[in-house]
Amino acid sequence: MAAIVFNTALIGQRGGNLCGEDELSIEACSSCQGQYLFNAALKDVYYDSADLSRHFFKIPAIDLPPCRYCGALQWQFATPAPELAQVQAGPWAWVLASRVFTFDAEA
Ligand SMILES: [Zn+2]
Repeated sequence: MAAIVFNTALIGQRGGNLCGEDELSIEACSSCQGQYLFNAALKDVYYDSADLSRHFFKIPAIDLPPCRYCGALQWQFATPAPELAQVQAGPWAWVLASRVFTFDAEA
């Protein structure tokens, strides 16, 4: 599985909160596979790939708002998280450091 490399400079330019020791990942709703950007270092879940000011803290005491894709009131990150090809095809493709598509040669 190819590692996902993030364009943190662009995320910062677009208003994402970065701390320098960011643990970024793309996570998906376990119900509908809708994708979110997550920074585990800051517990930030970004809801809208076009507006990074819309982010919420994922901490035990606070429920996340309903899934913006399927409306589920209680939802969890899917396991495993989306793979690179799914991220490339999804709304968060712009956060990838490389837009070069990879192909699975090991069929
Ligand atoms: Zn969902």
